[in-house]
Amino acid sequence: MIPVAVPDLSGNEERYVVEAIKGTWISSSGTFLDRFEKEFATACQTDHCLAVANGTVALHLALLTLDVQPGDEVLVPALTYIATANAVRYCGAIPIFVDVDPGAWCIDPEKLAEAITPRTKGIIAVHLYGHPADMDAINQIASAHDLWVVEDAAEAHMGEYKGRKVGSLSDIASFSFFGNKVFTSGEGGALTFNDDALLERAKMLRSQGNDPHQRYVHRVVGYNYRMTNLTAAVACAQIERADTILARRREIFETYDRNLTGIPGIKFRPVMPWARLTPWLYCLTIDPEQYGATRDQLADYLRENGVDNRPFFPSMHQQPPYLELAATQNVHLPQSEHLSATGLNLPTFTGLSDTQIETICNLIADRARAAN
Ligand SMILES: *Cc1c(COP(=O)(O)O)cnc(C)c1O
Repeated sequence: MIPVAVPDLSGNEERYVVEAIKGTWISSSGTFLDRFEKEFATACQTDHCLAVANGTVALHLALLTLDVQPGDEVLVPALTYIATANAVRYCGAIPIFVDVDPGAWCIDPEKLAEAITPRTKGIIAVHLYGHPADMDAINQIASAHDLWVVEDAAEAHMGEYKGRKVGSLSDIASFSFFGNKVFTSGEGGALTFNDDALLERAKMLRSQGNDPHQRYVHRVVGYNYRMTNLTAAVACAQIERADTILARRREIFETYDRNLTGIPGIKFRPVMPWARLTPWLYCLTIDPEQYGATRDQLADYLRENGVDNRPFFPSMHQQPPYLELAATQNVHLPQSEHLSATGLNLPTFTGLSDTQIETICNLIADRARAAN
């Protein structure tokens, strides 16, 4: 079976982990942590980066840092990985589901205004499947209504919006370094931002609310959301090869595009003129009428023939933990529903060969021919 994702650990990953172990710096301080935070901030064109345990706690920590309170409303895209909405719930706040737009597949700026109430405190913009959200439009609405903005950039490391780096386009951005992301440290996460006061508050909350000047004196109920130096060792080895990893993944995207062109009913992911896409998981959508089979039928066919794949995320209002909440909202989310019913992710990892991509694309073409 060709898997969907395989981490590329062919650089200094092993050497750096061994170095951390030999030096006994395996816990939550060490040179790899310092180096990762410095280099990732530089890569994101921000002043600060904080390393954390994973992308979900990165989001939670971002919201806590922005002082999200129980009962606050936070606007989130309906089409996202569930962690985005869960982080809002961890604060006791209420995620308000907003539809995505057909171009970027991210939270639709035109739908934001109508979702804002006196209880709205902020917006989480998810750069979905590596494509940056329309941040100028989102930030403009946010500043008109005095809202904060968080980027959930878990899928969009080093992507660009109008030439500016993802992660530098909001009050706080969060990243994930999970095993299937573009860069991975196994589990891992990060926040990026520019504001010094937010940095100090996030640092304190990351480490049990500890007073920065007095050990064992805790100012607030905080968390242990730290990353280990072992994890950071892997992350450093990934970041130093960022250009190579991104270049190979871009080639894979181009090879898919070339080999899938002309198959009836196979639609490519749109890319907005202002976007530089991060090549995370290759996306396509299926028009079942034209293709002659549904997304799920194609997914099964690929798996039967040794090619693993993933359907797009279910829309949040269709997820069991959010059914009840969504039913209280004015749920009209046609774009999220459409994409979640028709979207498919294909294998994307640096070790995938061009021959394997051709095999996958031939299977997709064969299934269309069998139907038509
Ligand atoms: C992966 C992901 C997360 C969560 O990251 P973890 O490291 O798995 O906790 C959050 N948001 C989005 C959009 C993601 O894709």
